[in-house]
Amino acid sequence: MRYQSTRNGSLTATSLEAVLKGMASDGGLFLPSDIGKANFDWKCTLGADTRSIATSVMSALLPDFENMKELVEKAYLNKFETEDLTPVVKVGNHFVLELFRGPTSAFKDVALSMLPQLICAAKKQTGDTDTTLILTATSGDTGKAALEGFHDISGIRIIVFYPEGAVSAVQRLQMVTQVGDNVRVCAVRGNFDDAQTGVKKAFAVVREKDLLAGRNTSLSSANSINIGRLAPQLTYYFKAYSDLVASGAVAVGETVDFCVPTGNFGDILAGYFAKALGLPVGHLVCASNANNVLWDFLTTGTYNRKRPFLKTTSPSMDILVSSNLERMLFLACGDSEQVAGWMRDLNEKGSYTVTPSVLSKLKETFWAGYASDEAAAASIKKLWNEHNYLCDTHTAVAWNVAEQYQSATGSNRPMVVLSTASPYKFPTSVLSAITDGKNIPADEFEVMEKLTNLTGVPVPNGLSGLNRRPILHTDIIDPSDILDYVLK
Ligand SMILES: *Cc1c(COP(=O)(O)O)cnc(C)c1O
Repeated sequence: MRYQSTRNGSLTATSLEAVLKGMASDGGLFLPSDIGKANFDWKCTLGADTRSIATSVMSALLPDFENMKELVEKAYLNKFETEDLTPVVKVGNHFVLELFRGPTSAFKDVALSMLPQLICAAKKQTGDTDTTLILTATSGDTGKAALEGFHDISGIRIIVFYPEGAVSAVQRLQMVTQVGDNVRVCAVRGNFDDAQTGVKKAFAVVREKDLLAGRNTSLSSANSINIGRLAPQLTYYFKAYSDLVASGAVAVGETVDFCVPTGNFGDILAGYFAKALGLPVGHLVCASNANNVLWDFLTTGTYNRKRPFLKTTSPSMDILVSSNLERMLFLACGDSEQVAGWMRDLNEKGSYTVTPSVLSKLKETFWAGYASDEAAAASIKKLWNEHNYLCDTHTAVAWNVAEQYQSATGSNRPMVVLSTASPYKFPTSVLSAITDGKNIPADEFEVMEKLTNLTGVPVPNGLSGLNRRPILHTDIIDPSDILDYVLK
């Protein structure tokens, strides 16, 4: 399978190159040009264990990697709380796919446990002896998961940029206490989009001016613009489906809907790839918080990033420029020139409008909705009171939108709600939701304790005791200084 840039069909790469480079040299994203034609027997995933599913799915998507099985074993062995990595739990009428059982308690662990293996393998296979410098912008969860995956791996250095004041206290402490000789964590004055745009610009300028020439260093990305981040995420769509079949909840071939709390459109795009590989997916429901730019786009066909950036209780979805949508646009229209034009408009004018035929193509698969902080809090409370299930704010957004979807469309297909973070990553919002905001301690670690005492749900290992670890990273810069920081 060949990869190509979303903005230029003649800029091609092997899957090894696509993973190593992170993004194409013209600013586009790498995409397998013929995913629908991949020769993949999705039924081989039924009844298989998670690591076997990961091996077969990633071999299909990243065919140039040798020894995928070994890479998968190394990535996941004994890293997650559960043997099957991503369990499915029945909650009320829906199924909750728990993606937060990894070392940093967010779904990013599924991909970021694997990405270092892919990058090291790609370097070895291509004879690349450069140091790989990973640049990552994070809205809170990617940063820690990437640090956890990449720290102390030889031949790799990593810098994580996070928006100052826009991540939870737990998320911040997870990052600034990170050990490892090859890691740097830096706060950026601004929001996530400022950090992400700064990092993308640094990439572009370094490439354009060859600024790392003679330093035996090349750049890559741990954000979901890297296809090596997306590929591992297909696994849990297949695994969830297999679990539903095994439990008798669906018959083989019956379509299932998935509702995905969405920010950068990476997780939900992995669902689209799974569907393209044959998995019987009905609708992919795109759930946003009050930053509802994707809902707007999927409703009207106009993507407009010129709007206030709102801080919500689901900060990992506080995004106005949703990178992976670019891949979906190409998949919907098949025309790289058109995609390049839309991205130019987005950059220069702040908005673009797709053709009616592209919009209707998107609507065949995607249904979009959004939930306010209040609506998400109400869902947390309801899930706790009615089903004794404690969920985080991002999962609550998805649950809320899944209910909107079912009442708006009357769909009675089985619904899998993706749960992307542990409630203990956002303990203040979660405790406030179930106690109506009464007597919430100011310190997030006291909140955690109160929450676990109240609910009996244990605090994940990686989060307890964080507040007693030494702070190792205190740098803070303006977005315009990201390039200098990287070069230094
Ligand atoms: C990153 C993240 C999301 C959004 O995922 P995308 O792939 O960016 O759409 C949702 N929830 C949580 C908890 C996250 O960390």
